[in-house]
Amino acid sequence: MDTLLSLQNRLQELEAISRKLEQPDEAFRKHASEPAAEAAFSYAHEFLSTLPDQKAFVEDVTTPKLLQQYPVQDEPRPADEVFPALRKVFDNVSLNAASGGHLAYIPGGGLYYAALGDYLAAVTNKYSTVFYISPAAVKMENLLIRWMCGLVGYPVDKSGGYLTSGGSLANLSAIVAARDAKQVKAERVPRSVVYFTHQVHHCVLKDLRVAGLAECVIREVPMTDAYEMRADALQEMIEEDLRNQLYPWLVVASAGSTDVSAIDPLNDIADIAEKYGLWFHIDAAYGGFFLLTETGRKKMKGIHRADSVVMDPHKGLFMPYGTGAVIVKDVQTLWRSNHFDANYMQDAIPYHDEISPADISPELSRHFRGLRVWLPLQLYGLKPFRAALEEKMLLTQYFYHEVKKLGFETGPFPELSVMIYRYVPEHLKGNTAAINELNARILKKVNADGKVFISSTSLNGEYWLRLAVLSFRTHRNHIDYLLQLLKKITEEEKLSETKLHNA
Ligand SMILES: *Cc1c(COP(=O)(O)O)cnc(C)c1O
Repeated sequence: MDTLLSLQNRLQELEAISRKLEQPDEAFRKHASEPAAEAAFSYAHEFLSTLPDQKAFVEDVTTPKLLQQYPVQDEPRPADEVFPALRKVFDNVSLNAASGGHLAYIPGGGLYYAALGDYLAAVTNKYSTVFYISPAAVKMENLLIRWMCGLVGYPVDKSGGYLTSGGSLANLSAIVAARDAKQVKAERVPRSVVYFTHQVHHCVLKDLRVAGLAECVIREVPMTDAYEMRADALQEMIEEDLRNQLYPWLVVASAGSTDVSAIDPLNDIADIAEKYGLWFHIDAAYGGFFLLTETGRKKMKGIHRADSVVMDPHKGLFMPYGTGAVIVKDVQTLWRSNHFDANYMQDAIPYHDEISPADISPELSRHFRGLRVWLPLQLYGLKPFRAALEEKMLLTQYFYHEVKKLGFETGPFPELSVMIYRYVPEHLKGNTAAINELNARILKKVNADGKVFISSTSLNGEYWLRLAVLSFRTHRNHIDYLLQLLKKITEEEKLSETKLHNA
């Protein structure tokens, strides 16, 4: 009896304490301005309203030591202590990924309405798992996937996919589906051949390793001057590998490469993949959503012939980071690689009209990613997305022409919205080391200013500056700012060169 009584007393005590976790709820209703919510929203408001004046990059890349003063502890901390601390570690260090001046890597921006979607997903704790548990979240995700399949041109009845945390995991999932569909079992791995160009995103190599395929034979297919896969070379390589008793099983094409936005010849590769029975995967993590524009559709003709496609909403749909997507022509392939039955899942009866993301992905309790994508699409409609994407392509073309006028060399004409350029003054022609050094210096100077942030890449030992225009907040003023900065920096360089010469 005593034990039961003390158990009940203890429960009561624990409940009184644990109910504190529910506190915001009540306070929210009472005051409509619960301190933490108030602090979070006012920070968000201030952040967004001052964003145009904020830097895109601050050179300070220090470890936010302040966080060490906030260990996880038993006692609560007041909101007016926690939020100012958060702010201190957020502001003025390194990259401001929300800035329109972010012209490096692949930006996206992060739409505010997506944050509201995340907020509601978290508040309701809805998740996108098996249909039986969360029909609305699953249906929403499936409808978004269906829409993406439509964009690519996949047949509606058989295709499918799911939202991932990003392009790397989306590529991994496609590779795993390909591996299983093409029966690349362990003993066969060392004789199995994968084809792509040097432009392939490094995550594909990482994914192959994670998928247990590191011992596959990797063939780098030669490229044209525009960094696009040479289909004729692909075919020759496959034929030679077949003659040598190897097993060609996967070709990965880029639709918008990270270095220069190159698009491999999708139709030609599809012909070859079909002829030799290879799985055809397209990494369109960056380029995929340009399908929303007329130009993008023309440039990516043939994309529907791929067995799998990756496209990142946190790039071309401007969603916050943590939003990718993998779609496949035959959704059964994903299902075969991922589905599982477990005894504690016996209530979750399969519902055949609707595929459950938990059955075609490695995840079970999955974030309700769909809401952050769905909400902005509903509230804005597609028009501003199409306009923004076209604007980004044109801004890149504008930069291409203008930077040449400043005396810069450029790489190929940008297929989408990423391009490379570098400064090669007359007196340095032929001196690769010095040219590389000079351009690295230019990058440092641009980023030291920080109003815009740029990155670089290395191609055949040559250092190239890189422009990537994809944040929805990037407009003509950012590009003009970069151009002016480049003009100023190259003039300074010329001046110091003359001084050196005269000395
Ligand atoms: C960004 C990118 C990736 C990697 O995607 P994450 O979302 O960063 O994981 C893969 N491939 C291409 C072409 C990309 O642009």
